[in-house]
Amino acid sequence: MNDCIFCKIIRGEIPSQKFYEDEDMIIIADIAPQAPKHYLMIPKEHYPDIIAMTDEQAVTLGRCLKKVSTLVDRLGLEDGFRLVSNKGAVAGQTVGHLHVHILGGATLNTTMA
Ligand code: 5GP
Ligand code: ZN
Repeated sequence: MNDCIFCKIIRGEIPSQKFYEDEDMIIIADIAPQAPKHYLMIPKEHYPDIIAMTDEQAVTLGRCLKKVSTLVDRLGLEDGFRLVSNKGAVAGQTVGHLHVHILGGATLNTTMA
């Protein structure tokens, strides 16, 4: 857990461009954006992915997603956005700390894979 990149960002040991923080999560800019607006919503509690998520963590994640809906103006996502969470290498997951990509700022490619 200590060498997890996102835990280090949450603890402030690695700098990030932070757009929002509360007791449950942070929202930061992705370091390698794949859309004009590309954020990462990262729950503060470390767990690898949605399969490992407990019922309690699922409740927290739901609260985080609801919060995102109130932040669209602050994030410049008034026209719409996409949420993505990769599970496993086949899906492209590279960081083993659950996170949700928030993508927007343009008309996105509708191909899902
Ligand atoms: P995944 O590939 O696991 O779904 O998403 C991981 C994301 O984290 C990638 O989009 C990658 O660009 C981003 N990322 C990796 N390291 C860092 C970092 O140190 N800072 C920030 N802001 N994003 C990172
Ligand atoms: Zn972590």
